[in-house]
Amino acid sequence: MKKVLPIKHKNSRRKDKVPLLSALAAPSINLSVLAGIIAQVSNWQPTSQTLLEISAITLSILLVIFIIVLIRSNKSLIQNKEKLEKQYSEIEEQYQTLVRIKEDVRAGKKFELAVKSASDQIIITDPNGIILYANPAVEAISGFEPMKVLGKKAGSSTLWGGRMDKDFYDTFWHTIKEEKKPYKGTFENKKRNGVIYYAQTTVSPVLDESGEVQFFVGIERDITREKEVDRMKDEFVSLVSHQMRTPLSSVGWYLEMLMDGSLGNLSEEQRDCIINMFESNQRMVGLINTLLDVSRIEGREIAMELKSVDIKNLVEDLLEETKIKTGKSGQHIELDVPENLPKVDLDPQLIRNVYLNLIMNALKYSPDNSPVEIEIYQEGDFIISKIRDYGYGIPKKEQGKVFSKFFRGSNIKKVDPIGTGLGLYLSKAIIRESGGDIWFESHGDGTTFGITLPIQGVKHKQEKVTTIA
Ligand code: ADP
Repeated sequence: MKKVLPIKHKNSRRKDKVPLLSALAAPSINLSVLAGIIAQVSNWQPTSQTLLEISAITLSILLVIFIIVLIRSNKSLIQNKEKLEKQYSEIEEQYQTLVRIKEDVRAGKKFELAVKSASDQIIITDPNGIILYANPAVEAISGFEPMKVLGKKAGSSTLWGGRMDKDFYDTFWHTIKEEKKPYKGTFENKKRNGVIYYAQTTVSPVLDESGEVQFFVGIERDITREKEVDRMKDEFVSLVSHQMRTPLSSVGWYLEMLMDGSLGNLSEEQRDCIINMFESNQRMVGLINTLLDVSRIEGREIAMELKSVDIKNLVEDLLEETKIKTGKSGQHIELDVPENLPKVDLDPQLIRNVYLNLIMNALKYSPDNSPVEIEIYQEGDFIISKIRDYGYGIPKKEQGKVFSKFFRGSNIKKVDPIGTGLGLYLSKAIIRESGGDIWFESHGDGTTFGITLPIQGVKHKQEKVTTIA
């Protein structure tokens, strides 16, 4: 007979295992109970092994649920952390903005104080030149109260301006409004009490992000005293030059008479001395003439005696004169100019001086036997002339000063100590007066000076006519 194991015995074995299970997971006890109930109802006889497995599965499920819950809560913790970090950086940014605003306000106050106490006149206008701000120096310089100039047009005749000619104002407005570039120049102005003064003025446009003019800032310095000192200096130079020119000229004539033997025969030695004296005298006369030209140019006394000039003929005549120099040094000049070059209305004497100066410089500042090339041609409405040499060049660092008064290159002073540094200054003034432009390029292998002259020429000037002697 088959022996059936009593349930009691099984239960007692199960009882051994349950405390262990319950220690691991209490909910599994309920499942054991549930298994017992199911066993009662369905006649299912679970073994303790089965119960153990059920508990293990339950435990695993619970563990998975626990891990999921843990991961979820960890995720939300990370999200919260990110949110907090974002909020923190926003607050940090707002704080920095506040600090900057505070600094700006402080800087703005400093800036305002600086503008208020500046000795130069500072005004801010809208794009149409209507004054929005004027510092106290406006009153010191022009006599107009800053508060009373607000809303008026800067530089108009109701204030301190209106004394320059139309061309001047046109160029001024074109530069600052159309080209949107700063303008620097000297204005003749009138104080509230009618006294004329000179102002060194810089007007700069202030642009917005789209490049449109938002404001103009004008800074003016009264330079009337400096102008007066300059004028007195020029007058003195002019007076001395005039006084010296006559005696120097007569010395020159007598020396010429001595040289050509009109005053008797000279020994070889005496002749050499006289030639030296004559050359020095000629240099002095040249210097005096140049100084007089400078004072005329600066005093705007030079008026053009316009004639229809054939530049080809003018330059060819000049080359005849410079032959003496080229003959001595073995240098040669190559001229490239077409036959059909149009004539230009120019002052032939003035323009001749410019070509002469440029050609002589090219010869003087080149070594013996080197060529000088002159090229003249028409380009559209202009005549272009280029004088190219293969000489000592102009040092790069000094190139910005080339057309200024008394400039002499440091390299040239060593090889040729005699020179005035006025030729290019005068040439520029003459070319400007003739409506043209003068420029240069100088690299390691020599220098090219260029002149651009409009074929239509210059408008005839009606002023007092004086010519360069
Ligand atoms: P000057 O010849 O009497 O010194 P300029 O005004 O004619 O006066 O020239 C000014 C200076 O410019 C010269 O001293 C020289 O340093 C420089 N310069 C002018 N032309 C040339 C040139 N062709 N090559 C090199 N330097 C030049």
